[in-house]
Amino acid sequence: MNKNDIVEVVIEDMGVNGEGIGKVDGYTLFIKDAIIGDYVRAKITKANKNFGFARLSGIISESEYRVKARCPVARPCGGCQIQEMCYEKQLEFKENKVRSNLKKIGGFQEERLAKVMEPIIGMEHPFNYRNKGSFPVGQDKFGEIVTGFYAGRTHKIIPNTDCVLGVEVNKVVLETVVSYMKENNVSPYDEGNKKGAIRHILIRYGFTTKEIMVCLVINHKSKECLTNGYKLVEKLEKIAGMTSIVVNCNTKDTNVIMGEKVEVLWGKGYITDYIEDIEYRISPHSFFQINPLQTKKLYNLVMEYADLKGREQVWDLYCGIGTISLFLSKKAKRVIGVEVAPQAIEDAKINAKINNIENVEFITGKAEEVLPKHFGKQSSMVYERPDIIVVDPPRKGCDKALLETIIATKPQKIIYVSCDSATMARDVKHLCDGGYQLQKVRPVDMFPMTVSVESVACLSRD
Ligand code: SAH
Repeated sequence: MNKNDIVEVVIEDMGVNGEGIGKVDGYTLFIKDAIIGDYVRAKITKANKNFGFARLSGIISESEYRVKARCPVARPCGGCQIQEMCYEKQLEFKENKVRSNLKKIGGFQEERLAKVMEPIIGMEHPFNYRNKGSFPVGQDKFGEIVTGFYAGRTHKIIPNTDCVLGVEVNKVVLETVVSYMKENNVSPYDEGNKKGAIRHILIRYGFTTKEIMVCLVINHKSKECLTNGYKLVEKLEKIAGMTSIVVNCNTKDTNVIMGEKVEVLWGKGYITDYIEDIEYRISPHSFFQINPLQTKKLYNLVMEYADLKGREQVWDLYCGIGTISLFLSKKAKRVIGVEVAPQAIEDAKINAKINNIENVEFITGKAEEVLPKHFGKQSSMVYERPDIIVVDPPRKGCDKALLETIIATKPQKIIYVSCDSATMARDVKHLCDGGYQLQKVRPVDMFPMTVSVESVACLSRD
C-alpha cells in the first residue's frame, strides 16, 4: 500500500478515536468519518508497514448505523467524532470500549465482566447538553471575523455559532459579539502575529436556573477593546437570563484559554446551578461537569454504589469543587474532599456553606500526598479510618503511591469514577491485586457524539 492509493474497503470495526477500521488484503486502514458497516472508497494519506490511514472520499454503500449529521460541519470540526453513527450504536461502541479495556488492560475474564458490567447510561435527547462553550475568535481567509471551533488537531477556526451540543443561547451571544466587533472595528486575536483584541468567548449556562455568564478573553495590550467592551456589555445584558459579563486578560502566547485575572463588567460575576437540590456557584475559572443531566445520573450512581447507611467516613479524592462530596454528605456521617487546585477548594467551601452542609471538610493537596500523610506508616491520627474512598482522577489515573495507601488503609469500599477507562482498568487491576474485588462497573455517556466515555467502578473487600 502506498500514499495516494485509492482503495475500496468494508469497515469492520471502530478505533478508540472513532475512526472506521477496515482491511485491504490483510493491511489495516484507519479511516476518519467511516462507520462500522460502511463500504467506502478512500485515499491513503499515510502508509506505515503494518497499518495506514486514509481519507474518506466516497461511500459506496451505507452502514445501517449511519445517520445524517445534524451539524453541517460535523466532519471538519474537532468537537464531534461520531455524529454520523446512530446513538444506539454510539452507546454500544462506548460500552465495548470500557469492557475491552477491562479485559485487555485489567486482565478480567469475560465471564466476570458479564457479571459485573451494567449497561451504559445514555441520554434520552443526546444533543444540546453542554453547559459551557468556549469559542475562539479569528478571521477567515476573506478577512471576515469568525467564531466557532478549532478543526481537529489544528488551530484553524471552523465557523459555527450553532453547535448542536451546546445551548441555543450561544448563537445569540456569539452573534452579538461578532456583529459588535464588526461595527466597531474591534480586531480578533491573530495567533500568528499575536495582535488583535478578542481571543475567546466563553459562555456558561445554568440548566436549572437558566442563568448565563459571558466571559470575553482579551489580549489586554489592546486597551480600546476594553472600553468598547463596556458598550458591548449594554448589548449583552439585554439577553434574557444574562447574569454576569466578565472580562479576562490573556496576553500569553499559549493554548491555555484564560489568563488569571477576571474582572466583572456587569452582574454578579458567577452563575448558580443545581444538581438535584444542591446549589453550586460557578465562577469563570471553576471546573464544573459540562453535562448536568448526565452528571446527576453519574452522581446518583456513585450514591447507589456507596449505599450509605449514615455511619460512614467517606474520602472524596480529586474532589474538584466538591460536587461528589456534597452529594454524598447527605447520607454519610462525614466526607473529606481532597483536591490539588486551591481555587477549586475555595469554591468547594463556598458550596458547602451556601447549602448549609456541615459534615464536610476540604483539604488542598495532592491525593497521593494527603492520604499517606494521614493514613500512611505514621498516621496523623487526626481522622477516623475511611469506610469508603471515592476517586475521580484526571485522564492519567491515580498515582501508584495513592493506590498503595488506599490498599493499606483498607476501606470497605472503593468507588472509582473515571474519564479514561484504560487508566481505570490499570488502577482497578492494581487494587484487585491488593485484595479488592471488582463488584460493579457502569459506563455513563457524558459526551454524546464524541468518543469519550465516563465510567464508575465499585470495588470491595471481605
Ligand atoms: N470530582 C470532581 C472533579 C473531577 S476532575 C467532579 O466531579 O466535579 C479531576 C480533579 O482532580 C480536578 O479538579 C484536578 O484539579 C484534580 N487533581 C488533579 N491531580 C490531582 C492530584 N494529584 N491530587 C488531587 N487532585 C488532583
